[in-house]
Amino acid sequence: MLHLLVEEPLPLPPPQQHPSPPRPNIIPKYPQNALNQQSFESSYRIVCNHLLDFTRSKSLLRGQSLHAYILKSGLHLVPLICHHLITFYSKLELPYCAEHVFHETEFKSSTTWSAIISSFTQNELPLRALEYFKSMLRNNGMFPDDHIFPLATKACAMINGYSLGQSVHCLASKIGYDVNVFVGSSVLDMYAKCGNLRDARKVFDEMPDRNVVSWSGMIYGYAQMGDDEEALRLFKGALDEGMDVNDFTFSSVIRVCGNSTLFELGQQMHSLCLKMNYDKASFVGSALISMYSKSGMIDGAYRVFEEVSDKNLGMWNSMLIACAQHAHTKMVFDLFEKMVSRGTKPNFITFLCLLYACSHTGLVEKGKHYFEMMEDYRIERGSQHYASMVDLLGRAGKLDEAMKLINGMPLNPTESVWGALLTGCRIHGNTNLASAVADRVFELGPVSPGLHVLLSNAYAASGRFQEAARARKMLKDRGQKKETGLSWVEEGNKIHTFASGDRRHELSEEIHRKIEELGEEMERAGYVADTAHVLKEVGAEEKSEMIRYHSERLAIAFALITFPPKRPIRIMKNLRVCGDCHVAIKFISKCTGRIIIVRDNNRFHRFENGECSCGDYW
Ligand code: ZN
Ligand code: ZN
Repeated sequence: MLHLLVEEPLPLPPPQQHPSPPRPNIIPKYPQNALNQQSFESSYRIVCNHLLDFTRSKSLLRGQSLHAYILKSGLHLVPLICHHLITFYSKLELPYCAEHVFHETEFKSSTTWSAIISSFTQNELPLRALEYFKSMLRNNGMFPDDHIFPLATKACAMINGYSLGQSVHCLASKIGYDVNVFVGSSVLDMYAKCGNLRDARKVFDEMPDRNVVSWSGMIYGYAQMGDDEEALRLFKGALDEGMDVNDFTFSSVIRVCGNSTLFELGQQMHSLCLKMNYDKASFVGSALISMYSKSGMIDGAYRVFEEVSDKNLGMWNSMLIACAQHAHTKMVFDLFEKMVSRGTKPNFITFLCLLYACSHTGLVEKGKHYFEMMEDYRIERGSQHYASMVDLLGRAGKLDEAMKLINGMPLNPTESVWGALLTGCRIHGNTNLASAVADRVFELGPVSPGLHVLLSNAYAASGRFQEAARARKMLKDRGQKKETGLSWVEEGNKIHTFASGDRRHELSEEIHRKIEELGEEMERAGYVADTAHVLKEVGAEEKSEMIRYHSERLAIAFALITFPPKRPIRIMKNLRVCGDCHVAIKFISKCTGRIIIVRDNNRFHRFENGECSCGDYW
C-alpha cells in the first residue's frame, strides 16, 4: 500500500534557499580551540542553548555561523545537535536547508527522522514529508513512534489523501500504536479533515483515552460537514468531561455559530473565550471575526480585529472577507496595504477578497490591477479568480473582454466562470452571446440546477424557445429542483424559518396583518410593486408569484411584531434577494425607522432610512 506515497514528481530545492556565507561582523565569538579549553560536555550544552535561542529569535545568520562552528568542532556527530539544527532551519522556513543537515547527519535516530518529517509538514510540503516517512520505513527498518505517526497523518490530511491515511492507520494498528492517545487523535483528525466522519467517529468512540485533539478534531469534523447540532453537543460533552478545550476547539465552535447564524450563542462563546483568555489567539480571532460578520455585525468584527495584536494571515483574510461582504470596499484596499506593509504575504484567498470587492463595486481597473499583481506574488490564479474577474468585466458590460479572458484561461472554465459570463450577458441584454455560450456549456455535459436556469433563460431571451424548453426538461428529467427560498431570523434561542407564502408559523395571522398594514404605509411613501419581477423568472431568485409574501418579508414582519423597538433586525436568506424585495425593504426601513440587515447567499445588505449599503449593486 505504501507505494502510493509519492503522488507526483517532487520539486527540486529552489537554489536561493541554500545557506549563504555568514557576514563576518556578526559571527558569535566562539574561540577556535573551544574544545581544547572546555570539556566536550559543556561545549555541547552551550551550543545546544545557543541553537535553541537562535531558533526562538529566528536569527538566521547567527544560526548559520553556529552551524559552521558545529561542523568544525565535530559536534555534528551528536544526533541531538543535528535534530536542533534541522528544527532551526525548519522554523526559519528553510526546509531544504534542513534537508541538507539531515543528509549530513551520520547517526540518524528516530528523533532525526521525526525532525525532518516535521520540517516538511510544518512548511507545507506534505508530499515530501510522506516521501521521507516511506524512506524511513523502507531503508532503515525503523518503526515510527507516537511523534512520527501524527506527522504522517497530518501530511495525509493536507493532501486530502484518505486512502493513504488509511494505510498509515493500518500500520499504526499493526504495531499497536492505535491505542496511543496522540496517534489515535491524529488519525481521527485526518479522517475528519478528509471528510470521512464515520471513520473518524469510529476511532473516537473506540479510543481508550481522549485528549483535547480528539475532541477538537471531532467537533471540527461535524462543523465542516454542517452537522452543527452534533458539533455543539460534543462541545458541551467536552466541557462536561472537564476537558481543557483549546483555541482550536473554540474556533471550530465559533465557526459553527457563524455558519448557522446562532449569534447569541456565538456571543456566549466570545465571553467564554474572554474568561479563558483565548480571545487573543489569532485562530479564535478569525473565527470571531467571521461569526460577527456573518451575523451582520461588522462593528463587532472590527473590534475583535483591533484587539488581537498578533495578526496572522487567517485573521487578515477574515477581516478582508468581512469588509468585502459588507461593501466596506475602501477598507478592503486600505487593509490590504496595511497587511502588506506589515510584512504579511497575501495568499490566493486574499486576492479572491480583493477581486470580490472590486466586482461588487464595479471597479474594473482596480480589479485588473490586483489580478495582475497575483503574478508578482507568484500566486497561481484559480478558477475562482477567473470567475470573479469575468463577473467584474461582465457586470461592467465588457463582455468581449470577459470572453477573451475565458478563452485564454490555462484551466478549463468552471460553472461559476460561465455563470458569471451569463449574468453579465443578462444584465446587458446581449442575447446572442448568451445563447452561443449556452451552446458551448451544454456540450460540456451535466450542469448544476442554478446554471440550468441561467442557460434556459439565455435561450428564451434570444428567442430560441425550443432549446429553452429542452433545457428545462433536462433539469426536470434529472429530478433536480431549484432550491426553495428560505429566510430565517433568530429570536431568543430559537430560529424562525419562513418559506414564500408560508402560513405555518404560529403567529401567521399577525404576520400577514402586519404585511398588509406595512403595504399601505409603504404605498403612501411612494412604493410601487415592481410587477416585472413577477413576469420574468430570473436566476436563483425566489419564485415570483406572491411577491408580497416572499420569505424575507414574512421574516421581517415577524421581527417587527416580536422584537423590542429599535432592535436591529437580522435576516438570513439562502437565495439572492429579488429586486422588488430590495426596494420594499428600503421602504420598510424608512417607514419603521429600523435597521434591517439581510444576508443573502452572496452578500450583506444593510438597510437604514430608505438606503441600502450595497448601493443597489448586487
Ligand atoms: Zn423577493
Ligand atoms: Zn442591498
